[in-house]
Amino acid sequence: MHSDPNCLFCKIVAGAVPARKVFEDDELLAFHDIHPGAPVHVLVIPKTHIATLADALPEHDALFGRMLGLAPHLMRQLGVVNGFRIVLNTGPDGGQEVLHLHMHVMGGPRPWARA
Ligand code: AMP
Ligand code: ZN
Repeated sequence: MHSDPNCLFCKIVAGAVPARKVFEDDELLAFHDIHPGAPVHVLVIPKTHIATLADALPEHDALFGRMLGLAPHLMRQLGVVNGFRIVLNTGPDGGQEVLHLHMHVMGGPRPWARA
């Protein structure tokens, strides 16, 4: 498990920064986005520090599969019954602001304030 002491999401994994967690196991953490862009907006992250999807290695493939597979369970648990959107911003031109790979999962009644 890699951790970057200067990384906000590594600090959330370590418990040094609070978050409204919705799921946690040994590999993954999911928590509510602090500035939700939809009625339900959670971030799913690997606990290990991977800066962007462009930095991922083949050994991470199973981890990403688990992140995707978790999404429908989280949405059901949070009462989202009519579909949801997944966004994974990658790198500067991809609009990624926090450099710890994270998957946005957004659902709830439309229209949303932002995508
Ligand atoms: P991105 O632009 O894909 O890097 O998205 C970063 C997301 O992290 C944004 O939607 C922020 O609202 C969210 N965010 C930033 N700081 C926190 C925090 N402390 N807790 C929860 N979400 C955060
Ligand atoms: Zn990190």
